[in-house]
Amino acid sequence: MADDYDVLIVGGGPAGLAAAEAVARQGRSVVVLERQNEIGYPVHTSGGSWVSDMQALGIPEHLYHPVKNVVFVSPRREVPLTYQPAVACVLDVRGVYQHLAGRAIMAGAIVRMRHTVEQTLLEDGRVVGVTVKNHVGERLTLRAPVTIDASGFARHIGVRTEMGPAFHRYGYGAEYDLYAPNYPQDELFLIMGSAFAPRGYAWVFPRGNGRVRLGVGVLHPDCDDDARTYLDSVMNMPQLREKLRAASPVEYHTGLFPSEGPVERFSRDGLLLAGDSGGHGSTLVGEGIRFAIYSGQMAGTVAAAAVKAGDSSVAFLARFDKQWRARFGRDMDISYMINKHIANYSDEQWDNALDLMKRMTPAQMAQALRGDFTAGLVMGVLARNPGLIATGGKRLLDGMLERINKPTLAAAEG
Ligand SMILES: Cc1cc2nc3c(=O)[nH]c(=O)nc-3n(C[C@H](O)[C@H](O)[C@H](O)COP(=O)(O)OP(=O)(O)OC[C@H]3O[C@@H](n4cnc5c(N)ncnc54)[C@H](O)[C@@H]3O)c2cc1C
Repeated sequence: MADDYDVLIVGGGPAGLAAAEAVARQGRSVVVLERQNEIGYPVHTSGGSWVSDMQALGIPEHLYHPVKNVVFVSPRREVPLTYQPAVACVLDVRGVYQHLAGRAIMAGAIVRMRHTVEQTLLEDGRVVGVTVKNHVGERLTLRAPVTIDASGFARHIGVRTEMGPAFHRYGYGAEYDLYAPNYPQDELFLIMGSAFAPRGYAWVFPRGNGRVRLGVGVLHPDCDDDARTYLDSVMNMPQLREKLRAASPVEYHTGLFPSEGPVERFSRDGLLLAGDSGGHGSTLVGEGIRFAIYSGQMAGTVAAAAVKAGDSSVAFLARFDKQWRARFGRDMDISYMINKHIANYSDEQWDNALDLMKRMTPAQMAQALRGDFTAGLVMGVLARNPGLIATGGKRLLDGMLERINKPTLAAAEG
């Protein structure tokens, strides 16, 4: 039977849309199958990101809101940092995702809304297509030499094709998107401690035009708390009460983010996993949008090359695993190591962590939050915190150094 497309993409989130643009730019036919009615809706992310990445990814300035002041709060400490110019930003999530869709379409991709992928077609162990229920309830069969599973937390194809089980450990987030007329739009908060976000953290992210996303994320199954029940107490924190005077939600979001580190393999015959479905986001702070875009671009480029070469075997597609691990693998491993270390912090440990942050420079803090781990960063933190040598923090830094100094897969293979 003839193939309908060169590449099928399951999911129209940032990974799927970036992959579609990359495939189409190589002159290959590609369709994105998205089960929702709109790209970028419902929102299930708070959209915190970095100005430098948005610039590198060609996201127009009007789609992100730079924020200069970042305040960390623990039960008994507060660490305010100022960046001039701003390094962090908060995205217009729907706007950015629709922009990515526009770019993919401009390059020649087809996007199909309210198309829910159901079954995976396998022939001789190779993924050759999917069945889809379309917007009028018809069931279609679509075939392609390469399918990219960019279905996010669902991992719709991955879990049905022996690419590892469904995610077991995850961040569960709930968020108000507020109209907050009195909130200072140049200040974001990250809040730790048992009163507001046990086994996780709370955030307040201004996003321009009087809008503010205020959310709580908790790690399951590390705890069984319900993130939703903490939102109102965060709104009433002494530090926020005046800033959030007269504020009221106009949207309510919930979402799940995999928190297990990258899955073991991202490729098999006829299939690639990109974005959250491959565990490609950073577990350090639950940040995945820019990583989903980078991963989608990489997966789409490899998929198009496989089609061109007439070879969609795992031997060819595993280039994606190698490229991704060479660029992101080490930092993501370290992020996950830190995530596991801090997930059980007591209130006192969070206070101590903020004491440590006070001694770091704003640039070091930004580098650490971004997950750009280098020996220079670790040594710099140690130099400013000689007391760490005697604590459990030293073991963590030693573990980081060990991983930083380990050659990456690509380097090891010469
Ligand atoms: C509460 C919360 C807060 C977050 N905050 C941030 C943040 O501040 N900054 C940041 O960078 N990241 C954040 N993240 C993470 C970020 O949202 C994800 O990493 C990112 O959305 C991953 O993109 P993706 O394209 O891989 O998956 P998704 O964005 O999840 O897209 C997957 C798409 O696949 C579709 N789909 C699923 N199954 C099917 C199917 N069977 N058929 C058709 N379509 C299907 C879905 O409808 C969806 O549109 C947060 C996540 C959560 C849950």
